[in-house]
Amino acid sequence: MAQIISGKEVSAKVRAEVKEECDALKAKGICPGLAVIIVGDDPASRVYVNNKKKACADVGFISEEYALPAETTQEELLALVEELNNKPEINGILCQLPLPKHLDETAVINAISPMKDVDAFHPSNVGKIMIGDYHFLPCTPAGVMEMIHTAGIEVSGKNCVVIGRSNIVGKPMAMLLLHENGTVTICHSKTRDLKEICAAADILVAAVGRPKFVTADMVKEGAVVLDVGINRLDNGKLCGDVDFESVEPKASYITPVPGGVGPMTIAMLMKNTLKAAKLQNNII
Ligand code: NAD
Repeated sequence: MAQIISGKEVSAKVRAEVKEECDALKAKGICPGLAVIIVGDDPASRVYVNNKKKACADVGFISEEYALPAETTQEELLALVEELNNKPEINGILCQLPLPKHLDETAVINAISPMKDVDAFHPSNVGKIMIGDYHFLPCTPAGVMEMIHTAGIEVSGKNCVVIGRSNIVGKPMAMLLLHENGTVTICHSKTRDLKEICAAADILVAAVGRPKFVTADMVKEGAVVLDVGINRLDNGKLCGDVDFESVEPKASYITPVPGGVGPMTIAMLMKNTLKAAKLQNNII
């Protein structure tokens, strides 16, 4: 039977730490501020934005929501980003993705000041992560690492397999495991012998976006299994990329869905916003 690494518990710990530091900053007259841009009326994006605003309120940050209509032009969106780049009381800016099809996501990410890029998607921050000399880590992979650390799992020398190579999860996830001296393999849709590669993993991270994709035959006895996937089933329930029922008895540690990596992502966003406020006030 695996030990469950609860994202609810670990994220609550991170948020409590952020709140404590936020209180200390407020005593110095500084209140961290996050601006969240949402374009259009995608229901999933609306839920994510509401959760981020609520998390800000819980830790004591100011949050400003900029809800723009779906027909917003690229110029209007870039003008808003520029305005927020220059607004001193805003320390972090995030633009909720995906954007409507007519908008250029890359251009928007590139327009956010790297010092306020609390998602760590800007090429300058991505490059810094590659080098290992960074201010911000992307929230989801950083959340996975926080869970690994809290559970006391050693990465050094372990076979780590990441399924998925997206810019926001798979690639930075692999880099963070590499920074901790894991021997890292990245698998993707063109990988041959996926099952054999996964079955050799001491630490397996699933970021595929396919419900119950990782089955027990892909998991080594005693492996650590971290499930990034968030998939909505036909019955409306959330489900991860890992077939929890069959994998859990084989794993040593496993993260559930819901209540696993999901809550960590927002907690790490709060941590990045706090750091941005400290950096912009020359406190670090
Ligand atoms: P993505 O679609 O950008 O990437 C999916 C990756 O899976 C791709 O690199 C692809 O090569 C790989 N893949 C697809 N089919 C495969 C196959 N048959 N075999 C091996 N690899 C295959 O998705 P993403 O943005 O990286 O997100 C992945 C999952 O994580 C989704 O379920 C998403 O909802 C979830 N997610 C969760 C959080 C969170 O906060 N927990 C944050 C971001 C994403």
